[in-house]
Parts: sequence; C-alpha cells; structure tokens
Amino acid sequence: MKTQLTNIKSNIIGELKKIAGKSNVLTEYEDRYCYAYDATAIGEDLYLPDAVILPENKHQISEILKIANENKIPVITRGAGTNLVGGCIPLKGGIILHTSKMNRIINIDKTNLQCTVEPGVSVEKLQQEVEKQGLFYPPDPASLKVSTIGGSIAQSSGGPRGFKYGTTKDYVLGLEAVLADGSIIKTGGKTVKNVTGYNLNQLLTGSEGTLGVITLATLRLIPKPEERQVLLACFESIDEAAKAVTEIISAKITPSTLDIMDKNTMQTIEKFHQTGLPTDMDAVLVLEVDGFKESVPVQAGRIMDICRASGAKNIRISRSRQEADEIWFARRSAFGAVARLNPNVLTEDAVVPLDKIPDMVREIRRITDKYSLTVCIMGHIGDGNIHPNFSLDLRDKDQAKRFEQAAEEIFNAAIFFGGTLSGEHGIGYSKSAFINKALGPKNIELMKAIKNTFDPNGILNPDKIFARN
Ligand SMILES: Cc1cc2nc3c(=O)[nH]c(=O)nc-3n(C[C@H](O)[C@H](O)[C@H](O)COP(=O)(O)OP(=O)(O)OC[C@H]3O[C@@H](n4cnc5c(N)ncnc54)[C@H](O)[C@@H]3O)c2cc1C
Repeated sequence: MKTQLTNIKSNIIGELKKIAGKSNVLTEYEDRYCYAYDATAIGEDLYLPDAVILPENKHQISEILKIANENKIPVITRGAGTNLVGGCIPLKGGIILHTSKMNRIINIDKTNLQCTVEPGVSVEKLQQEVEKQGLFYPPDPASLKVSTIGGSIAQSSGGPRGFKYGTTKDYVLGLEAVLADGSIIKTGGKTVKNVTGYNLNQLLTGSEGTLGVITLATLRLIPKPEERQVLLACFESIDEAAKAVTEIISAKITPSTLDIMDKNTMQTIEKFHQTGLPTDMDAVLVLEVDGFKESVPVQAGRIMDICRASGAKNIRISRSRQEADEIWFARRSAFGAVARLNPNVLTEDAVVPLDKIPDMVREIRRITDKYSLTVCIMGHIGDGNIHPNFSLDLRDKDQAKRFEQAAEEIFNAAIFFGGTLSGEHGIGYSKSAFINKALGPKNIELMKAIKNTFDPNGILNPDKIFARN
C-alpha cells in the first residue's frame, strides 16, 4: 500500500483556518480518509490529503492558493467526487478544496437565456430550477443528481443528450476562476458570440482542475422542448443495434438521445431493480425524441421504421412522463448495478467516428472475451462514445493485469478507428499513461507549456492528464 508524505506544516494549517474559518478546515484522519477517494476504483493504494477545506467564496480560495503556491502545496478541487478517472485523488497529498459550500444559483436570466451559478450547484438542481422557468440546460451526465456544475465544466461532461444538444463545453459562456498564484480571472462573458483573443473559456473547460479553480459560471440556456417521448428498441444482436444507429444518423433524424445497453448490462440491472428490461435480447437502444408536440410522433414513427428494418424485434414507446422516467431510471441505474457485482467497477470511455461504431462494438467484445473479463457495454452510442464497464476484483492481481491489457487494446482500437481515449470522462490519473500515444509529442509539449504558464509550480491537481515520468 502506498501513502504519501505530509506536506503542510502546522503553522500553515493555522493560517488556512484564519482564512476559511476553523470549522471549514478538516484535518482529522477520518475526514481526510473520506477524501482519499473518488468514484474511481484505484486498488489498495491510499492517497490521503493533508487537509480538506470547504471555502465559502473566491476570496478565500485566492488566499488559500497564494499560500499553497508559496509553499508548493498541491491543491485538488473537488465537486461531488463522481469522476471516473481518479481526478480528485490527492496523489501527492496537499489540500482538497471541496466546493460544497459554494452552491448558489445566482440568477436565471430569461431574457438573455443564461444563468450564473456557483461551482457546487448540482446539475440536477440547476436543471430543475431552469425548467421551472420554461428553460433547459441540456448536459446530463448520468451522475447528475449529485455531480456539480464545477466538476462537469472541469471534465466537460457529456451525457445521453450530447447527440442532439452537445456537451457541457457548448453551454459555457463565461467563467470566473482563481489561478495558482491566487489571481482571479474572468473569461468569456455574457454574450453568445465572442472571438476577442484566445478562447480561455474553452481552455478552462475540460482542464480537469489543472489550470484553475472555477468559482462562477455563466451558462447558456435554451427553451425547454414542449414534448418528449422515449423508445426502447430491442435487438437480438448488438451488431443490428449498432447498424440501426448508423441508419438513423444517415436518415438525418436527430433524436435527443441515442444510448445503448447490452445483454449483460440489462441482466445486471434486473438483478437489483425490476425495470422490465428484455434480458433475453442482446442489446437495446434507448432513444428519446423531443421538440414541438406535433413533431415528436413523426420523429418517433420514423425511428421505429428504421429500427424495425434494421432487425428490432420489439419496440416499447413511452406513453406518459412516468413511463419515460422508468426507462431512464433503468439506464441510469446501470453503473450502480454493475458496481454491486464485484468490489470494483472500471469504465472505459473511448470514442470513435460514427461510421466506426459497429466495428468498435465488435472489437470491444472480442477484446473482453480474449481476456476473459466480465463487461457490461453501455453508453452514448449515437456519439460513438461506448462505455465498457468492467466488473472486477482488483485484489486479484491476474485479473487486474488482464484488465490493463484489455483497456490498452481498447484504446489502441479507438485510435486505429480514428477516435480517441475519452469522449467525456477525461484523462485524470487513470488514463494518463496513454495520452502520449493519443496526442503525439508536439501536442503534449504545447499542453505542458500551457500548464506551466498557468501553474509554474505545478500545484493544481498534480500528476493528472500527463503521463508521469
Ligand atoms: C454513476 C456515474 C455515471 C456517470 N455518468 C457520466 C455521464 O453520463 N457523462 C459524463 O460525462 N460523466 C459521467 N460520469 C462521470 C462524472 O460524474 C462527471 O465527470 C461529473 O461531471 C463530475 O462532477 P463532480 O462534481 O463529481 O466532479 P469531481 O469528480 O468532484 O471532479 C472532477 C474533476 O474536476 C475538477 N473540479 C471539480 N470542481 C472544480 C472546480 N470548481 N474548478 C476546477 N476544477 C474542478 C476536479 O479536480 C476533478 O479533476 C459518471 C459518474 C458516475 C459515478
């Protein structure tokens, strides 16, 4: 078991308490232990932070970062800790900045179709509040009940609705962030168009807590679609399901979601929640259509025709909001259900161009069979973003090794098909060993230069994204 050295002297803890308030600085072993983990299975190593701070505003964060920078103390920002790449794990100890106390929706601006929020607001809370005003914030990571806006901007999270509406990056208009030296910057703004200088807004989006701490976000909203309907199309072969996806896309129909679950996933979900999934089928597509009332049945009808022509044996269609929510409940339970099978679950997140989806699905199955691993395949197939969820016991060293080999082959396959390592989960710690292969030396050199400009002492989320030397 690895642990890291303590970085912070007690006089510094005293200074941090003066800045953030005594009760907002946690240093007891039990508290620090709770923040040694995020949603990523990392085996038996323990990486304890030296302190956990719950800041209440940007000024406190700025003062904390000034001290951390002077003393070269690592700082890892944490939202809900649901990321799947070890992004919040304090690999070198240091300070965890937990944004849970910065959780206000500052305003919802119906005229300019935007809202301004603090980073600790949950995605679901924001969606509920804007929907009360007839507006819509589409990005919908399956973790949305708890995952935060700050975390989803830092990961540029996606979700099922990415197919039609894009991902978090498409909704970030403006950010406020505190840099490693404590300076506070604003990027982007409140305008829809903005080409004044380099796009620092998009640089911070997806930067995984390595360039700055996001303290405020102005997000674009759109009108809430009038109507939605969910379809569950059942296929005897996953190949047919993958083919249906490419046919729907070629027919220029744009469902708001185009997700897939394979047989193992359905059987696992049904073990824990009886949701009525067709466990005898090889795969289902979960499709949602939305828009004006009149257009929804037309879209649903065309999709049903294409699915049938591609081999769908049965298609269930929601007739009420409750039925739609039931289908989504099944899909959103998938990760949790897989997590109950074994001590560990690890999710890959490779993404390929749309015409390579069937090839990639076949390749994932071949690779997981080759290494005799239990895998549940699900994901946002319409985006070419497939998540094989591996059910593992990482205490079994042979199994852990086989998983590593399979993951590497999956990444290689994605790159071979013209795709890349991650569609939405990011790189963090768990995929950093593969980034050189995906991006090549010149890109890595440029990215490291950017990191060095923002954070010359390397205190922000160290050893994430880039391969460790
Ligand atoms: C069951 C389950 C389902 C999931 N489904 C999806 C999905 O459909 N799509 C998807 O994209 N992801 C998904 N994820 C991954 C994860 O939920 C998302 O990445 C999510 O957006 C992370 O939000 P968080 O608040 O938990 O961030 P955290 O995990 O706390 O942090 C994530 C990263 O962001 C950094 N960070 C957090 N807050 C800030 C901030 N204010 N400023 C700067 N950096 C910050 C952290 O340092 C870390 O590197 C899923 C995870 C689980 C467990």
